[in-house]
Amino acid sequence: MPLYEYRCRACGAEFEQLVRWNTPPEEIECPHCGRREAEKRLSRFAARGTDSGSRRDAACGPIT
Ligand SMILES: [Zn+2]
Repeated sequence: MPLYEYRCRACGAEFEQLVRWNTPPEEIECPHCGRREAEKRLSRFAARGTDSGSRRDAACGPIT
């Protein structure tokens, strides 16, 4: 099962949860306040995207 990062909209807590890939966010219970208002965070993928983007920019620079 993949590990996802969630942020609770009710109390603002950030936590990681092992879930099935098709688990809707409404089923994720916040470990801090117990409410089900978590939203999925995509920080890991976003960071990777930014990384390759800046590397491509750097490679473009010297070609003149
Ligand atoms: Zn919460």
